[in-house]
Amino acid sequence: MKEIRVVESVLKANDVIARDNRTRLNDAGVLAINLMSAPGSGKTALLEKTLPALAPDYASAVLVGDLQTTRDAERVRHLAKSVTQINTGRGCHLDAAQVETGLSGLELNELSFVFIENVGNMVCPAAYDLGEHLRVILLSTPEGDDKAAKYPTLFQIADAVLLTKIDLYDRLDYKVERVRDDLSRINTRAPLIELSAATGVGMDIWLRWLRTEREARRFRPETQLGD
Ligand code: MG
Repeated sequence: MKEIRVVESVLKANDVIARDNRTRLNDAGVLAINLMSAPGSGKTALLEKTLPALAPDYASAVLVGDLQTTRDAERVRHLAKSVTQINTGRGCHLDAAQVETGLSGLELNELSFVFIENVGNMVCPAAYDLGEHLRVILLSTPEGDDKAAKYPTLFQIADAVLLTKIDLYDRLDYKVERVRDDLSRINTRAPLIELSAATGVGMDIWLRWLRTEREARRFRPETQLGD
């Protein structure tokens, strides 16, 4: 019982900071997206194509979580207004306090999007609210078509599910119907967007979803009206 209480209090403390993060983002009119997936599902590759596509209309910042290295941050460094690497050491997920520190280094009033690339992991990140507005779960074709059913806690919290690397469908004999079928039992709210960052197929649907979500939130009506 003691261990259970400890876990609960850690999560409670996290949620308080997450709420503060969200308030701060709302006040500045910034939409925060938490990208979660297994390692190697294509979170960074997605950002490499997403950031330049949004850049003419929206300024973005990226917070990148990894246990070690600044490799992912370096890949997107020149593509966003600000890129911050957060090394979690042994931590299998980002927490709200780490994101709070990351947000402190940003000029939030100059931004429209903050993308948070979580640590590659299909279990731990699902339990931690970071103060984001939307949760996007990536599932790459090489991981197999059975993962939504195997890791339901992650897919349950998704606002959108991205099926990535679909240029490999034919080679892997991938059954997208199986993913759809699993999601129909786990999460009927999140759209399933099939895309390939490598070929660009489906990227237009993803970008339209982002733009729609951004515009649908009237953070600052007085400035939105003039946009
Ligand atoms: Mg990455």
